[in-house]
Amino acid sequence: MTFHALTPTQGTDLEKMVFFDQGTQVLYVSKNNAFEAPVRSYMQLLNEKSIRYEVQSVAMDVIHQKRLLNDNAKSEVMGRSDMQRAATEIFKVAVERRASDIHIRVASKSHTKIIFRVHGDLELYEEHPASWGKLLCSAIYTGMSDISDATFEELSRQDARISVRENLSPGLDGIRIATTPQVDGLVMVLRLLYNDEGKSIDICDYGYTRDQQDLIDQMRSKPTGINIISGPTGSGKSTTLRCTLLTIHKECHGTKNIMTVEDPPEYSMPGIVQTPVANAKTEQERSAAFQEAIKATMRLDPNVIMIGEMRDTPSASLGMQAAMTGHQVWTSVHANNAFSVIDRMVDLGISSNVMTDDAIITGIICQRLIKVLCPSCKRPLASVLERYAKDDLERVMKAVDVSSAHVIGDGCPECRGRGISGMTAAAEVVVPDEPMMDLIRSGQKARAIEYWRGRGGRTMREMAIDKINDGLCDPFKVEEEIGPLSDMTLTFAGDGNDS
Ligand SMILES: [Zn+2]
Repeated sequence: MTFHALTPTQGTDLEKMVFFDQGTQVLYVSKNNAFEAPVRSYMQLLNEKSIRYEVQSVAMDVIHQKRLLNDNAKSEVMGRSDMQRAATEIFKVAVERRASDIHIRVASKSHTKIIFRVHGDLELYEEHPASWGKLLCSAIYTGMSDISDATFEELSRQDARISVRENLSPGLDGIRIATTPQVDGLVMVLRLLYNDEGKSIDICDYGYTRDQQDLIDQMRSKPTGINIISGPTGSGKSTTLRCTLLTIHKECHGTKNIMTVEDPPEYSMPGIVQTPVANAKTEQERSAAFQEAIKATMRLDPNVIMIGEMRDTPSASLGMQAAMTGHQVWTSVHANNAFSVIDRMVDLGISSNVMTDDAIITGIICQRLIKVLCPSCKRPLASVLERYAKDDLERVMKAVDVSSAHVIGDGCPECRGRGISGMTAAAEVVVPDEPMMDLIRSGQKARAIEYWRGRGGRTMREMAIDKINDGLCDPFKVEEEIGPLSDMTLTFAGDGNDS
């Protein structure tokens, strides 16, 4: 790690002014900058560390060349197995921090950034030379992924997966790899698929209320029909689906055949038959393979079918067909709120008569994940009012209880300085009935929503406000996820009329 400690931060002026060759103990200093403060303090740093060195005054170009040569040499010294070890180390730290993704961004002319996504936000983990990053990506793709004869091509988009145990850190079931070239270099994103065996299957542990759980129990109790979960990527849909399927499995004591069609499977679910979709190159092939997998599943005597996502007309109509031929179906779709799921499915070509039949559509759920404040360093909103702009405060104070709301603190060892300790769901759960569907069919969506709320329905926004008033979530952070809190004309995040 001495290398990191002694190497000026990339992209800084200092990086252009000095280069310390640790092999020869020569400090190259740009002659025009020799007396500038950053150079002086860098030399002081070396002195403090009792490092002996000889100074050579050179042109700035020389510094640049020295650095490039050094980066290349360092990369070559580290063979592929070293790079695999480096990758394993990165995976390990990412798992410790419970990162959902690792981004490796290589900018050809300068550097590589290793970035983690933790609790929904990106955070920089490490910086390295560009050449190092290219070797890392290549080692991950060719040496660790499941593709046996893989060649890493910097200029193409490539997908792969790591599922061999020795290449994974404990706690992981797999890693999904996606790469793309970027204007100046390339990006590799690794989605970490955690092994959640043994983790709770009670959705209340992920932020749902008991009332919402009762509604989902009702969905599970209906032998046929379709239940649709919506929300953007990273909204925790897969976790909700996993909890639901594993609960069905547990409750039926193995008497039901539960099957999934996923592209690709995200979690391993013991006791459930998970069918992956065959690898396909083009979107068209992929869609065809997905349809084939759904059809095959229907012939395999299932009671419950989970279809990972309804993303096109064929998969949507096959899903509906499964629901109408005596199966309980669970699936997901992209929509902003529970009621717009119906519009979305109509857009996908399902007739509105089917979509407003409460015997077929047995449940709709929409969810987002919102950040949970670190309990050790959160601050009462009332104590830091001066931090916020007047407009923002006025808007938020209309919706939340200032006496109990808390906001993000400065960070502490408990939360690794993030101020955030995790994520929790804000969801809306709808079990449609005939009067509600009659209203939707006759184009009165707003009245349908009113009817639902009159019967105890809670919107994502209301649920988030409850969590803010409990001091669990920061109102301003919540707004980043679900939009303005005080705008009560918008019943839902993303509004109610995005048909
Ligand atoms: Zn903290």
